[in-house]
Amino acid sequence: MTIDGKAIAGRVMADLIPRAERLAQAAGRKACLAVVLVGDNPASRTYVRAKIKAAELVGIQGKELEFPAGVPQDELLAAVSALDADPSVDGILVQLPLPPQIDPDRVLDAISPAKDVDGFHPANVSSLQLGRPCTIPCTPKGIIRLIDSTGVSIEGKRAVVVGRSNIVGKPVAKLLLDRNATVSIAHSHTRDLKSLTREADILVVATGKRSLVDGSMVKPGAIVIDVGITRTAEGTLGGDVDFASAKDVAAWITPVPGGVGPMTVAMLMENTLECFEARINR
Ligand code: NDP
Repeated sequence: MTIDGKAIAGRVMADLIPRAERLAQAAGRKACLAVVLVGDNPASRTYVRAKIKAAELVGIQGKELEFPAGVPQDELLAAVSALDADPSVDGILVQLPLPPQIDPDRVLDAISPAKDVDGFHPANVSSLQLGRPCTIPCTPKGIIRLIDSTGVSIEGKRAVVVGRSNIVGKPVAKLLLDRNATVSIAHSHTRDLKSLTREADILVVATGKRSLVDGSMVKPGAIVIDVGITRTAEGTLGGDVDFASAKDVAAWITPVPGGVGPMTVAMLMENTLECFEARINR
């Protein structure tokens, strides 16, 4: 069965509307999410637009800041620091990737953990590892919700995560571990990927390699979460999993588009309201 990420994300967002209203009444203003876009990468622009639109839908004020691709690092850092110091801003997101003259670590470090709605700040990353309260990165958080939507318990399952990035692979592996799955992480040096993925009751693929995993690599009855988004020269979107062959083997599978992507945006809205609530209660 297909896991309809778009529909599930729609329900999450609908549930967030009354929460956003309640918090706005308590604070005397709406939550505010600042989204920073650098350069003219069309995919980044699409993501930023989707995030601002989702914010408006939920009742969060979206504030978009755009910089040209050649912006000097100091200028960008100064702008992010100003947002961080602005009491009317509750969450800050800098759309990645950034142009080569910008060190993404310096930019992410300029956002204080309390406004780090992406959960990328080292303080949030280490808290996640230590099992302390923190902002959980949106995509991994959404992936767990999508798995939960199947009604299948994660506990005791064999989970394989393909990809070990800081924004998807590593944090989703930790979240699966926290839910008592037995987790393996594969990467580009993994030998015999197929024999590993065929063991997975839960298979999460986040590589950016189009159709890396096909049906022959999926365990019958598995839950398959396809995180990858790639675009062909003709503009067609696709994932890391060959949906056509995998769908007949898996019990549950996310499509691309319409799977993990919309859930990531919904989790961003949830994280923004969590940051807003924490600031109100401080
Ligand atoms: P990265 O490029 O940071 O990481 C890719 C990972 O895949 C690396 O760990 C790499 O291994 C591994 N990998 C590459 N080739 C292979 C291979 N042949 N076999 C096994 N592992 C391999 O990517 P991200 O994690 O940032 O993103 C992955 C994909 O997910 C992209 O398509 C991205 O666009 C998408 N994405 C989607 C989101 C959404 O909301 N739907 C959100 C974030 C990302 P190694 O470490 O050895 O290099």
